[in-house]
Amino acid sequence: MTAIALEQIREARKRIEGRVLRTPLVSSSSLSARCGVPVHLKLETRQSTGSFKLRGATNAVLSLDDEARKRGLVTASTGNHGRALATAAQAAGTRAVVCMSALVPGNKVEAVRALGADVRIVGRSQDDAQKEVNRLVREQGLTAVPPFDHAAIIAGQGTIGLEIAEDRPEVELVLVPLSGGGLAAGVAAALKGALPNVHVVGVSMARGAAMYESLRAGQPVEVEELDTLADSLGGGIGLDNRYTFAMCRDLLDDVVLLTEDEIAEGIRHAFAQEGEIVEGAGAVGIAALLAGKVTPSGPTAIVVSGRNIDEARHRQIIDAGFGKVSLSGGRI
Ligand SMILES: *Cc1c(COP(=O)(O)O)cnc(C)c1O
Repeated sequence: MTAIALEQIREARKRIEGRVLRTPLVSSSSLSARCGVPVHLKLETRQSTGSFKLRGATNAVLSLDDEARKRGLVTASTGNHGRALATAAQAAGTRAVVCMSALVPGNKVEAVRALGADVRIVGRSQDDAQKEVNRLVREQGLTAVPPFDHAAIIAGQGTIGLEIAEDRPEVELVLVPLSGGGLAAGVAAALKGALPNVHVVGVSMARGAAMYESLRAGQPVEVEELDTLADSLGGGIGLDNRYTFAMCRDLLDDVVLLTEDEIAEGIRHAFAQEGEIVEGAGAVGIAALLAGKVTPSGPTAIVVSGRNIDEARHRQIIDAGFGKVSLSGGRI
């Protein structure tokens, strides 16, 4: 049995309580008016470290035995997991090595470094970064804390689902950003455990949607990693995937894909209508509604997963909205 159950998510919540924020679930009047149903935003943009990843990383670090924790921790990351792990490691009094590819934006690299982690930039993909992790585990005995395919990570991210179910037990549809699937698997397991009739839909960018392609193929497949506005959604799911592939296959009702223009619209909407600075990956749920890729028929919640976007990049996207400059077509 590879699935993470509600009970493990409840235990995760007890373990991380007081160390991560219980983020607000706020109603969006503009999206509610537009969709004709109540729409709520779960603001993980307000989470400390700027994304939900602190939930899983904190749960994973606290779940390790002392000896494994003391050896030092290592991970591959598109940025936000590294930042979260660096924070959780610091809180636990141990060191973290974070391996990132050259595709990770500079603001994210700097944030990880500022938290005292040892940063290694390797290659041009998450797979390249993961190879360095494997080497450090093998040669230096560090303890790997993977970004998504790990029971304690999935359970930690799932605490978001528990909070949504408690705050809005009437929800019928929940939209979740989807990359490696730790977030979607955990949130769907928690929600479907608590509210059996709820629908959970994953949202990815069309450029390099590894979980989507894997679900279509019926097994984990490799997908070329491409530059995207939703940089936190980049990377593969691992050909040796243990948990998240099966959980996403069994628990997600649908997966939808977005163009870069649609993601940019989501970022603009979040800023102009909701007053939130949201990174591309965090804006995909909003973007899916705006683009009409999902049509809710009842109360809806959207996981707005993070805010860590480079400031200049954000301004450029907002400004482009005024002139309606097309952001499509290649690198942005
Ligand atoms: C990591 C991340 C995701 C995707 O989470 P997975 O567990 O890899 O699917 C979504 N949004 C943000 C902001 C992230 O940092």
